Amino acid sequence: MRILIVEDEPEMRELLGQLLEADGYEVETVSDSAGALAAVAVREPDLVLLDVVLGGEDGRDLLHELRLMGNAPAVFLTGRGLEMDRIAGLRMGADDYIVKPFSPGELSARIANVLRRSRATNVQPRQSESSVSFGDLRIDPLTREVERAGELVELTAKEFDLLAFLASSPRQVFSRQQLLQQVWSSCREWQDEATVTEHIRRVRRKIEQDPDHPRWITTVRGVGYRFEPGAGSPIGYDRRRHLVRAS
Ligand code: CA
Repeated sequence: MRILIVEDEPEMRELLGQLLEADGYEVETVSDSAGALAAVAVREPDLVLLDVVLGGEDGRDLLHELRLMGNAPAVFLTGRGLEMDRIAGLRMGADDYIVKPFSPGELSARIANVLRRSRATNVQPRQSESSVSFGDLRIDPLTREVERAGELVELTAKEFDLLAFLASSPRQVFSRQQLLQQVWSSCREWQDEATVTEHIRRVRRKIEQDPDHPRWITTVRGVGYRFEPGAGSPIGYDRRRHLVRAS
């Protein structure tokens, strides 16, 4: 498992690196937001551990940026143990919070716990009979797998949620605001409609043959997006437009 540490103080950065390496993780350390964004884009860490105070930068702004890029869980480090900070941080979308000073045992336990939860939501047993298919696109809500023309498409958790939600109501148009509410459902404070636009772009790049002329997820100008089931009846949908078992 790869962990990215974002901390501007060299001593703390080194200490965190040593502790997590001792736990068997592959560790990369950076000192600022620019370094963090570059590292996430290239290395796709399994978890990001970031300090709330990054010199002149605010770690919460960085977390917002990271959330637009993907779904690696994030753990905040903070020297301020006030309850208000804790709540604000979690509402910002951090998966956990570690207050300095912390013990090595607490760090290990919290990191392991967040990674375990993250794996539990991303990996589920294969039950292919539950999938629904539209032409050569197959969506399986139980295994959270998507195949295009028989090939597995790698989607992040939120990309899958977005596609599955749109596909569960074919041809129904959803505004970005509705999608934020339905797919992201919480943390409205830090999520803006650009989050939806960016995720739509990413999903299209992965499932569309020509992302510039999408066939599955179309834009309804001035309104939002909808899933186009294509010609013929989709397999596995009932009239109530919910995902159901395909026989
Ligand atoms: Ca710091």
